[in-house]
Amino acid sequence: MKGKLLIVGFGPGSEEHMTKRAREAIEESDIIIGYKTYVDLVADLISNKQVISTGMTEEVSRAQEAVKWAERGKTVAVISSGDAGVYGMAGLVYEVLIEKGWTRESDIEVEVIPGISAINSCAALLGAPIMHDACTISLSDHLTPWALIEKRIEAAAAADFVIALYNPKSGRRTRQIVEAQRILLRYRSPNTPVGLVKSAYRTRQHIVLTDLAHMLDYDIGMLTTVIIGNSSTFVYDGLMITPRGYQRKYTLSAAEQPLKPHERLRKEAEPWALDQKKSEPVREVAEAALQKLAIRHQDTTTFAPAIFEIAVSPGVANKNFTPKQMMVLADIVDEDGTMMYTPDHYLKLEVPTSDPDLIIARLKEAGLTVAPVGDVLTLKACDFCDGEKKDAIPYAEQLYEQLGGMALPKELKLGVNGCGMACYGAVREDIGVVYRKGAFDLFLGGKTVGRNAHPGQLVAEGIPPSEIVSVVTRIIQEYKERAHPNERFHKFFKRVKQVGGFVYQEAKQAAKIEVPACGE
Ligand code: SAH
Repeated sequence: MKGKLLIVGFGPGSEEHMTKRAREAIEESDIIIGYKTYVDLVADLISNKQVISTGMTEEVSRAQEAVKWAERGKTVAVISSGDAGVYGMAGLVYEVLIEKGWTRESDIEVEVIPGISAINSCAALLGAPIMHDACTISLSDHLTPWALIEKRIEAAAAADFVIALYNPKSGRRTRQIVEAQRILLRYRSPNTPVGLVKSAYRTRQHIVLTDLAHMLDYDIGMLTTVIIGNSSTFVYDGLMITPRGYQRKYTLSAAEQPLKPHERLRKEAEPWALDQKKSEPVREVAEAALQKLAIRHQDTTTFAPAIFEIAVSPGVANKNFTPKQMMVLADIVDEDGTMMYTPDHYLKLEVPTSDPDLIIARLKEAGLTVAPVGDVLTLKACDFCDGEKKDAIPYAEQLYEQLGGMALPKELKLGVNGCGMACYGAVREDIGVVYRKGAFDLFLGGKTVGRNAHPGQLVAEGIPPSEIVSVVTRIIQEYKERAHPNERFHKFFKRVKQVGGFVYQEAKQAAKIEVPACGE
């Protein structure tokens, strides 16, 4: 007898939101397998069936159990909330089958029955937040490395996707949602609408409409889905709505549209489209269209694109800007941005934008070197006497490639100077590397500013060039892993006494001059 695996998504949890096929599938099964809470949610459909319900973390044994019964010719329903193919059981059941050499011609028939996933049910309760390109990201780092999750949040944030965060928080996992908010705030305005929906279409349903800055002030748990709006999502009368762009071509209050259908398809009505000629004043028209949208939303939410900060320089060793590069900078900064020259040899741009990637791409295209601003590693190289003392340039570049912009507990300056004159002051930086007689001297723990400013300690001389990148990388890796948040490198070095194998030496105390008081 042929066995059957029915992998059922039963929707958010209420009967009305379960599909007819999902109900039938449960009814036609001999055995129901699912996480206990889910089985309870469909309890009234399964009173006369064999039920196997196990704990939350036992998905693998549940899938194996299902396959085992199907091999014996039974019809087995594996149930997941929402859609079984969205962080549900569908993929895992297939993987277990594949391990056993199953193919579609084998004795077990598989049917995946779609259900309403949380992104859809929660969106419906909030209004219409997913009207435009959206994505789901699970914040659970149980099976996925956090570094990858972080990268996806960042990419989705930069690309202005509406984002549905699944598994945002549990009793044990509380930091992920905090980190996610921090990343999102780098790309989106703090007043971006955010919806928190807990237990959609279940008895404990709870809906909160807030914004990116305040989302953590509310209860978020295992049964919450967090929906983050894109840069044009707005709030109206307690509803969260993402416009699709109809206002660009239609007058929604008019019975008769000013543009006829064929006019809407003309090029001038689509200034943003791919096949527009570059010479047309595309930007102005597109901006006017966007402006129209923004004005509409201002009554309910302010429409401020996030400020994007970036460090720009002509290169690692090169200190010369070209006129063309200055023009690109002027165009990017424009009226609304700022451009500041910092003590660290770079221009800091602050530009309001919803598309930081575009800015990065334009700067790079102009041959400029870019790096993030904040608690990151900044490489400060000298000009290598305009290339006359160029032997150390490849190492400076390699250090920049490998470490530039790396996120650290506190900002860290790595100075690289190309000769013993060290006239760009590498010796005074957190970490200084000075090229001399074909090898590098290494200085650690300088303090650039303050009344007790001091150079770094000379901890090694004559490090062979082939070693320098790995020596510095090791030191920075140790600092990244072991420093307290906000602990500057010189304090860290003093506290831990040894970094990268180099030992800290107690600094000499300054003599105290006692001046006799007047008249003594
Ligand atoms: N297969 C499910 C997702 C399972 S992952 C689906 O397609 O919906 C579990 C996560 O889904 C939860 O942490 C929560 O973020 C979300 N979720 C599932 N059901 C939900 C509901 N009824 N209300 C709100 N969020 C829900």
